[in-house]
Amino acid sequence: MIIVRAKYLVPDPENCIENGAVAIKGTKIHRVGTFNELKMLAETEKVIDLENAVILPGFINAHTHLDLTNLHRRIKPTHNFTHWVFQLLAARIRWRDDEYISSIEKGIKLSVEAGTTTIADIANTSHSFSVLKKSPLRKVVYKEIIDLDPDHANDVLKKTRSELSAITTDELFHTGLSPHAPYSVSQELYRGVSQLAHEAHMSVCTHIAETEDEIEFLMKGAGNFLALLRQIRAINNNWRPPGLLPIMYLNETGLLGNHPLLIHCNYITDEEISVIKSSCASVAFCPRSHRFFGHVNHPVQRLLDAGVNVGLGTDSLASNDTLSILDEMKFLFHHYSILPKTLLSMATLNGAKSLGMESRVGQIKEGFEADLCGVRLPDCHSENIYNQLLSDVSRNVFTMIAGVICYDASSSEK
Ligand SMILES: [Zn+2]
Repeated sequence: MIIVRAKYLVPDPENCIENGAVAIKGTKIHRVGTFNELKMLAETEKVIDLENAVILPGFINAHTHLDLTNLHRRIKPTHNFTHWVFQLLAARIRWRDDEYISSIEKGIKLSVEAGTTTIADIANTSHSFSVLKKSPLRKVVYKEIIDLDPDHANDVLKKTRSELSAITTDELFHTGLSPHAPYSVSQELYRGVSQLAHEAHMSVCTHIAETEDEIEFLMKGAGNFLALLRQIRAINNNWRPPGLLPIMYLNETGLLGNHPLLIHCNYITDEEISVIKSSCASVAFCPRSHRFFGHVNHPVQRLLDAGVNVGLGTDSLASNDTLSILDEMKFLFHHYSILPKTLLSMATLNGAKSLGMESRVGQIKEGFEADLCGVRLPDCHSENIYNQLLSDVSRNVFTMIAGVICYDASSSEK
């Protein structure tokens, strides 16, 4: 049994234990309390003292594309999303297998170092499945599905079913389905994915309501997306817009019945928020990626006020600077009026709920998976643990996943 101790332990957003400790037996959390309470436990083999740090539930990154990690700063910042997509497609058009693999491996390393213990990753190629499967992270890897031609829907579904049935999942590795977005997936394919996910008990996520262009495309069949799709010949001449707002469109396809994880939701009406809430879908908000594209006023507070489950994602390094959920919390702390406790919920509990894992991860609780991280706090002492956690200099120094120490820089950072 291992005991990890630190100046503070925040097992969930409602509690903070000074001089806290957690005892880990195998892959699970055995006991939680003060170090004085736990130090007498029999069978203790090792005590790790993180000293001036706070032990937290491991962060949950509810949306990322680790295969884009090597594109960090290789795509010019732009507020035009379709221009960004063009740059991205051009940048990796000649990528070989080893470039995808090294990108994913780097993304895994950066995630673990940032205190992330669970990720929801989008797989654009089979490499995401094979490389992530071997990684220490807990993960849901979503097979990305793209095809706008309704005549292809059955073939795409058949191929997807056979690809996923050949993948063996395990305790740390789950697969899911990610129909990419309304401007890259036909309505027929969305319907088919919804059905397949029901049959195979798989989780689903999709990019939705990300840009005003997407709304123009769905409502009027016009704008930048249509121009892009015509240019790359990805859309039939007989395509007609559904004339619906993004969330209403998803509802129409049946996908909301899968309790999906809705990525972004940057532009949504109150009516759409009610539909999200009643469908029990979750939202993955990617704050710094949202800023990268120049969007303003994400409706996160309206979503939270309506009782929608909102987790945090970093998105990829093609539109962000780090893969750190703590950095997302710090950004929100400075730019949005969200309570620090709510930020921690979004980074842990809500993320777990968005992946259907809330009974196993997202809190440091007896019987839960031993997924935790340790954030080194500033030397100057403030009364408030959250002010210390969200200060510019705090940083993750320790990551444990399923009872395994995956990263420990605690002694070099003292
Ligand atoms: Zn994405």
